[in-house]
Amino acid sequence: ATETEVKVGPAAASARELAHRQLIEDIGAFLIDNDLEISEANLTIAFGVCSGNNLALAKQVTERQASGLPITQAWLDEHWQGGEDAVGRIADRLDRSLESFAATTRNASNTAAQYNSEMQVHVERVGEAQEREEIRNLTTLAIAMLERTQHLEHEMKRSEREAQTLRNSLAKARRDADHDHLTGLPNRRAFEGLLERHYREAQKELDALSVAFCDIDNFKLVNDLHGHDTGDRVIQAIASALAQISDDNCHVARHGGEEFVMLFRGAGKTEAKRRLDEVREAFAQRNFINRRTDEPIGKITFSGGVADVFAYPSTRDALKAADVALYVAKEQGRNCVIAA
Ligand code: GH3
Ligand code: MG
Ligand code: MG
Repeated sequence: ATETEVKVGPAAASARELAHRQLIEDIGAFLIDNDLEISEANLTIAFGVCSGNNLALAKQVTERQASGLPITQAWLDEHWQGGEDAVGRIADRLDRSLESFAATTRNASNTAAQYNSEMQVHVERVGEAQEREEIRNLTTLAIAMLERTQHLEHEMKRSEREAQTLRNSLAKARRDADHDHLTGLPNRRAFEGLLERHYREAQKELDALSVAFCDIDNFKLVNDLHGHDTGDRVIQAIASALAQISDDNCHVARHGGEEFVMLFRGAGKTEAKRRLDEVREAFAQRNFINRRTDEPIGKITFSGGVADVFAYPSTRDALKAADVALYVAKEQGRNCVIAA
């Protein structure tokens, strides 16, 4: 029996070792086969996929592979929401910091209560016999209490400052997680949240709801002729033109690259097309100039596709229909908006 037991240890260890080796091999194969950078984020993703720690992503990866499509960096960035984890981590730290702050406060009031009751005893005695001795005791106690209170006050201020710093980081992380850097518009993920919310509400209130895709026309030319920085400023200009028609019931987000996605609550595709055409026509009148070289860039236009959300089984299908309509707008010569 002893011999069997002796064998159990190493055998189990080598099974675990084997599993570890297999996991490392799988992670390596995942990164190399898909030609992915060996970065911290990619290693985390690969670990999540290969170990089954991130089941949702593993499932998406399998589905994508099954349909013969490549696992690219862009696809991973889109499907792996690392940003949310950063917010989660900061939120956890904030929670812990606030907890210790509360503990300090409790500590302070406990100590104060303790001093108070001791003080009470001495004060009562003062009325009786050895007054001088008791007054000395009281003074010592008062000084000790003062020092302790000052120390606690200092600690509390420090905790308060820490909590404030964390709160600021949290607010920034939340902003970064759902806003696009270049344009300040909500990003694609934030838009998905907005769309789901408006979808639910519009369904309940029987409101119309439409979505749109907008894409800059021949944008590659702007980059090629005037440089990427100028291209970025053009993206910002279109973003702010579209943002001008946004309000509580109309949201614009940067879907990625030179593409924007919108939702119109209380408006069907015809009304959405009308509003979008207004922005498009005004925008197409403008003459752009390269700020750096003063060279004229000329006119810049964009095309759009709109679709009624409730004409489709899901928001996803409606977005797809708007994207197809955008494609039709491109085929029909650009600088126009097509309703699905
Ligand atoms: P189309 O009218 O068919 O949309 O033509 P296009 O040239 O706009 O389309 P294409 O998809 O060929 O090119 C889009 C270009 O947008 C390619 C890419 O380099 C550029 N782009 C994507 N994101 C950015 C960005 O953030 N900044 C800049 N400056 N360019 C970007
Ligand atoms: Mg495009
Ligand atoms: Mg384009």
